[in-house]
Amino acid sequence: MARLVQKFGGTSVGDVDRIKNVARRVKREVEAGNQVAVVVSAMSGVTNQLVDYVREISRLHDAREYDTVVASGEQVTSGLLALALQAIDVPARSFLGWQIPLRTDGVHGRARIEEIGTEAIERRLNDGQVAVIAGFQGVTADNRITTLGRGGSDTSAVALAAALNADRCDIYTDVEGVYTCDPRIVTRARKLDRITYEEMLEMASQGAKVLQTRSVAMAMRHRVRVQVLSSFEDKPGTLVVDEDEIVEQQVVSGIAYSRDEAKITLTGLADRPGIAASIFGPLAASDINVDMIVQNVSGGGGTTDLTFTVAKSDLDRTVARLEEIRKDVGFSGIVPDPDVVKVSVIGVGMRSHAGIASKMFEALASRGINIQVISTSEIKVSVLIAEEYAELALRTLHTAYGLDQV
Ligand code: ADP
Ligand code: ASP
Ligand code: MG
Repeated sequence: MARLVQKFGGTSVGDVDRIKNVARRVKREVEAGNQVAVVVSAMSGVTNQLVDYVREISRLHDAREYDTVVASGEQVTSGLLALALQAIDVPARSFLGWQIPLRTDGVHGRARIEEIGTEAIERRLNDGQVAVIAGFQGVTADNRITTLGRGGSDTSAVALAAALNADRCDIYTDVEGVYTCDPRIVTRARKLDRITYEEMLEMASQGAKVLQTRSVAMAMRHRVRVQVLSSFEDKPGTLVVDEDEIVEQQVVSGIAYSRDEAKITLTGLADRPGIAASIFGPLAASDINVDMIVQNVSGGGGTTDLTFTVAKSDLDRTVARLEEIRKDVGFSGIVPDPDVVKVSVIGVGMRSHAGIASKMFEALASRGINIQVISTSEIKVSVLIAEEYAELALRTLHTAYGLDQV
């Protein structure tokens, strides 16, 4: 007998028939003698709709009430799946975040899990029942509902798997696993049988939304065995594993992209010590995350340009904050550009192989794609390019690194 956590994403619970399909899949595991805890997302599209409602009423909304509203989608699916299971004679009970309880900090909208009470769920599991858990939501110490950030039910699932000491955490989604690139854009992308925690973490944090970044970080820390697979097919998916479990390591294992980027250039900036701190200090204090940064060498006139990126959703706030400090810091212009995309090439093999970045630059140049900003880390190279070239760049790089399906 194994103990499993199964997580079903939005498309997998997108309508009543699909919820019934999920119930049958859960039943199969139960009949095989396993203990099963299921984590569900909201039906696809529902969370977006709830976010839109909140924004329609108030752009600068109270984050506590945002969470109250957007967490509600998962309440519906947890109840419906429990009913669908009962209808096929599988005893099941739903759990909301506060009923577990899944305790988080008070950072509404992107709360972090602090502690999970396992007693109530363990009791159900030991009693042969299925626990159906509303993903994405938690509760603060003062009993307010929180949410874990978009895509957060992946993190609910991995955290539960760790807390329950589950043998595996299966993340069911609408593709067959983790691919070398988003299969909806690069049709020649290949499904990976295995990917390392480290590469998956980098893929997720560079935009591959197949798993939420925090869920991968948590799986890595607690050594949770995660499998990503389709809820529509009966095929093995992708296992997220340690590096030593991969027999033949590719130099580049995947390509990710993020449209959630905006570029800002400050022109006519004084070229003196302390200038970067005088800009990024106030942005950090306003909780604005800066990602890529380039500063040009001064042309000799004592001024320079500085370019950096922030999340698209932070662009207006960033420009407003820069206007406030403009006089004190001293720069002549602010040039915002939301029409950019970040493309990243990822692979642990980069540690021991040279020439990965130059291949990227050559491939993009061969298509006339201009690189605006570059950043690198040990296992990835990222470039910022105009958004209109996103798909061309992904396909070109996918071919250049020999990742295409044959
Ligand atoms: P769910 O609702 O099941 O959580 P998501 O939409 O959050 O599903 O994540 C699955 C989607 O992630 C896929 O439909 C796919 O378009 C996208 N995706 C992006 N990059 C990748 C990748 N490298 N491999 C697989 N899917 C990817
Ligand atoms: N329903 C939430 C979202 O759309 C959480 C999730 O699906 O993981 O972000
Ligand atoms: Mg998701």
